[in-house]
Amino acid sequence: KFDVSLPAGGNDELGELSIAIRKLANDLERMKKDRNEFLASISHELSTPLTYLIGYLKVAMRDDLTEAERNHYLMIIAEESNRMKDLVKNLMELAKMDEMTFVVSKENFSSKKFVKDIFRLVEPSFALKNVDLNLICKDDFSIHADPVRLEQIVLNLLDNALKYSKENTTVTLEISKEQSHTVISVVDEGIGIPEEQIDLIFEKLFRVEKSRSRTFGGSGLGLAIVKELVEAHGGTIEVKSEFGKGSRFTIKI
Ligand code: ADP
Repeated sequence: KFDVSLPAGGNDELGELSIAIRKLANDLERMKKDRNEFLASISHELSTPLTYLIGYLKVAMRDDLTEAERNHYLMIIAEESNRMKDLVKNLMELAKMDEMTFVVSKENFSSKKFVKDIFRLVEPSFALKNVDLNLICKDDFSIHADPVRLEQIVLNLLDNALKYSKENTTVTLEISKEQSHTVISVVDEGIGIPEEQIDLIFEKLFRVEKSRSRTFGGSGLGLAIVKELVEAHGGTIEVKSEFGKGSRFTIKI
């Protein structure tokens, strides 16, 4: 707890200084609270799957199981371990981005090639779920960005679009140039986001419903990472969504 006993702010310089210090103390206090809440969320996020893992391990070790039953439990253990691995990887990414040393290395590359590379990476998982992937990149122009980071941004958005879409719907990835900006949008016809929660989805560990993560997987860190990466490029990200109808994420860099 910060104990700042300074005179109440007046109009003189000492008064202004005292207001400034009080504001700084409040900011520090809030940061400490945010950090503690974040740590509590992480501990919870890690301990929940661990509890499941231990439970399934105990069951899988029983000697009265058929081979099929044991395989079933081992599959769940593998999936849950993968989810934890992704969560820890994402947490490390975010921690790295918070450091001042995080830089993006921008270069020029072809928009058509970028889209083609993305398509090759994601096409199998879209085909597997029977979701159409529609790519629009009318002209081949030069994108000025960090290619590895931009790919990470788009893959994250496509991953969400697919995850929250039903089969036989379409996801559209459009890349275009507007003046000196590159505009990328990812549009889906999936479950959408309730209006009152749209502002929260970029927060770390936020999920629209906690139960969504059991059904769809995911850790609630993907969009926090996307936002940091977009901002590290000096860009913006916007989302429009209609609950039950679909979502549109638009990036400008
Ligand atoms: P997660 O790993 O849980 O998907 P994200 O940070 O990527 O975490 O997204 C945060 C939350 O925003 C998700 O849990 C989901 O509820 C919601 N969300 C993100 N993208 C979409 C989308 N395309 N359609 C519907 N809901 C979405």
